[in-house]
Amino acid sequence: MINDFESLGVGGTFRRALRDKGYTEPTPIQSQAIPQLLRGKDLLGIAQTGTGKTAAFALPLLQRLDEENSPPKPRRPRALVLAPTRELALQIHEELTSLGRYTKMRHAFIIGGVSQNPQIKGLAQGLDVLVATPGRLLDLAGQRHVDLSEVSVLVLDEADRLLDMGFIRDVKRIVALTPKSRQSLLFSATMPKEVAALARELLEDPIRVDVSPKQMTVKEIDQRVVMVDNGDKQRMLEHLLRDDEVSRAIVFTRTKHGANKVARKLENAGIGAEAIHGNKSQNARQRALRNFKNGDAWVLVATDIAARGIDIDAVSHVFNYELPHEPESYVHRIGRTARAGATGAAWSLVDPSERSRLRAVERLIKSSPAEVAVDLPPRDPAELSQASRRPPQSSGRPPANQRPGARRRSRRRRRQPAA
Ligand code: AMP
Repeated sequence: MINDFESLGVGGTFRRALRDKGYTEPTPIQSQAIPQLLRGKDLLGIAQTGTGKTAAFALPLLQRLDEENSPPKPRRPRALVLAPTRELALQIHEELTSLGRYTKMRHAFIIGGVSQNPQIKGLAQGLDVLVATPGRLLDLAGQRHVDLSEVSVLVLDEADRLLDMGFIRDVKRIVALTPKSRQSLLFSATMPKEVAALARELLEDPIRVDVSPKQMTVKEIDQRVVMVDNGDKQRMLEHLLRDDEVSRAIVFTRTKHGANKVARKLENAGIGAEAIHGNKSQNARQRALRNFKNGDAWVLVATDIAARGIDIDAVSHVFNYELPHEPESYVHRIGRTARAGATGAAWSLVDPSERSRLRAVERLIKSSPAEVAVDLPPRDPAELSQASRRPPQSSGRPPANQRPGARRRSRRRRRQPAA
């Protein structure tokens, strides 16, 4: 079977942008969704971030709008993408901008937590596609800075998350501001009853595309479990992070407080780390992500909600500092590695009291991650006192543009006890 973007109906303008991005072959969700969406069908997509779903909806959306050939209008988007988190909204905006770079279309985003003025200015300058989180969008619609009456394509991304985060009423109010005769797409990683009900309400005779993350998890990610007492987890984590194989890692904790604590201790141990969670301001979150993406910090310590939807390439390892309450979160967490066909590793640090959580994960993924024994290095008094003398924050960070190999060497250097 021929499987390229051209045979799916993607035009030359967009194939050029795809080449720039290095997307040579469509992912499964792209192959299944693009031809149908170009025909104007509604879509119900069971897929999580990491499957290529953004381009799956962005390409047909952009191509159809581009064919209409109408200039961007102030305040009146022709397409609206709703996302639950600011990070996801920004990522979608970036993907739209890069895929549409050879068109004259304009894209804007509206997110909460930052000043609304630049966003209002962006809307007034004219736009085709608007990416938004629900709260701020309703705010600005109420102030008449945005008018949704010409939206012909509506996308709800991560619908389960939108519901989890309490946005259901906002979403319904937003939908009511759009015309009935629109193309509607709904993506969700899971399909609880409420999402199914929302889908029935919004979609008309949709095609259904299901890209199961569970199969992906089991096949492509090297999963391991280390049994370790809570009190030794930090030391174990540091030990594992220092392995040469680890070039960039996300560490998951259950609580915001835990994320801060782990990140702070890693920094003290000379391991460049950033924490990201819901209590941080938008600017602090963006800064943490930037530092992680550009290599200033090679470890990101995150809570589940903060990490959902963040798209970061080349994460070699995911560490579960604690197992999550909901086994589904385990699948989402480890899906941060092995993105778009790459391979990755996921290590879970499991205290004996977490055994029942581990069983729940195993039932869900229908397999058991290999349990491995790792000896903790002995506590080194010289190293301990050296760590406590080390100046805070800046001392251990490798320079921003260092390659992983170089970074590993500098890490080893930092571990040498003082002569
Ligand atoms: P998404 O599920 O949309 O968040 O995409 C996950 C990752 O896959 C992103 O880093 C995309 O840039 C990348 N990606 C999407 N489509 C392709 C493709 N056809 N080939 C290679 N990478 C892709």
